[in-house]
Amino acid sequence: MKNLGFVGKLRRRPESESFFRLAKTAKQAIFVLSSMQPDAARRKKGRSKPDRVFRHSLVLFLLCLCPFTSQATELQAGAAQVKITPPIGAPMSGYYYERAATGVHDDLYAHALVFALRDVKIALVTLDLIGMGAPLVAQARQAIENSSDIRGDHVMISCTHTHTGPTIPRGTQRENSKSNAARIQAAYVKALPGQIALAVKQANSRLQPARLSTAVGHEDSISFNRRFFMTDGTVGWNPGKLNPKIIKPAGPIDPAVAVVYVVSAADEPIATYVNFANHLDTVGGLAYSADYPFTLSSLLSKIKGPEMVTLFAQGCGGNLNHIDVTTDVRQKGHAEAARIGMVLTGEVLKTYTRLRSIDPTSIGLRREVVKLPLPEVDGDAVARARETAATYDTPEAAPFMELVNAFKVISVHERQGRPLEAEVQVMTLGEDLAWVGLPAEIFVELGLAIKEASPYAMTIVTSLANGSLGYIPDRKAYAEGNYEPVSARCAAGSGERLVAASLRLLRELKQ
Ligand SMILES: [Zn+2]
Repeated sequence: MKNLGFVGKLRRRPESESFFRLAKTAKQAIFVLSSMQPDAARRKKGRSKPDRVFRHSLVLFLLCLCPFTSQATELQAGAAQVKITPPIGAPMSGYYYERAATGVHDDLYAHALVFALRDVKIALVTLDLIGMGAPLVAQARQAIENSSDIRGDHVMISCTHTHTGPTIPRGTQRENSKSNAARIQAAYVKALPGQIALAVKQANSRLQPARLSTAVGHEDSISFNRRFFMTDGTVGWNPGKLNPKIIKPAGPIDPAVAVVYVVSAADEPIATYVNFANHLDTVGGLAYSADYPFTLSSLLSKIKGPEMVTLFAQGCGGNLNHIDVTTDVRQKGHAEAARIGMVLTGEVLKTYTRLRSIDPTSIGLRREVVKLPLPEVDGDAVARARETAATYDTPEAAPFMELVNAFKVISVHERQGRPLEAEVQVMTLGEDLAWVGLPAEIFVELGLAIKEASPYAMTIVTSLANGSLGYIPDRKAYAEGNYEPVSARCAAGSGERLVAASLRLLRELKQ
């Protein structure tokens, strides 16, 4: 495990920092400005009258600047969003068959929130996309470094996991199409890092003194564990509404609605960051849509004003979705997405009244790349998997679960024994608030384990952050089988490694 950690120790970029950011205190500034006097003046033993006047006016000038220099020790924040809706015709994400988008229900966005404190800046970015692999995240971080004074590794880039956005290729076989849709997709993906960097740049340009408050709401009526103990002794996956063989859910949900609210010194809303764990596959169809976060941001902007940016971050909902199997009510489409979005918004609105302000005095950062072991795959399995995969998207397509397994086997084989690399990123604001970013669809049990053992009063665990490695179930689910562990590109125990790394980094920062 390679530790990339540091706490607030910056590689300085003086060319992009203002003089007064570099000179943290007026005293330092006097020293720096003194050294900026003309050489001739400094060489003289006695001070001439113009020299004294120069020094006195410098001191006066600096005294006037004191309020501004002290401002750098207070929290600043800025937010922005940039439209990232692809052209019509791009392949849409989320299922095991190709479908090209035919319209736009609501636009997709890159949402960015930048915090600055002393000389450290961090950015949180949420994208209305299904997921983004680490190579593309690296490109986006590079674009951010090129266009702002924010370090790429100070940015957490997470995806909401909307199934009604474009596919973002991870280089797997079923994405190697040469169709027109694939050409549209290639051009889109090429431009995406620049669009993400633009959102961060705009948020950075809007930095202003800010106040922060947080609270955690509770909403348990819109998300459901999608794995069930069945009467035949198996663990079912999405077994269908009113299925009589269902005994009970095979795991919990995470009802926490984490809210971070940011306002200006004049109390004007800058941003609301909401983290909630629930798969985003409500809408369906062929029109682009951000799914229920669209309703969340639309309703919050009606209340808080159009200038406020809402960032929705996906919690650990790898084995959760919105389907209530205890009813036969239809739960697909824009009306259902709007209903879920409204219920979630209602809880955010209730949570606004319970916000507790925090006044952070420092930003903490840690990153670590955790190596995740691969599942066992033997040679015969690879040959069989290739045959099965060849049936994909044909009239003779193999059954769903066989295709899922075949794509997994091929993908694991291609790694030739090299373990998966998962970036664990932790950011903290002060002593009470922490973010953990994990690069996959994480089982809810793992997210809950991090939150419960974290030394921070409020820990937000955002999945599909800084990468997209597919499902990461907990160890128990591998023994139970079915879709997510069959699909997972890493072996049992990987999720527990991510939990251990997250907690280690959180504890280091808390010291
Ligand atoms: Zn999904």
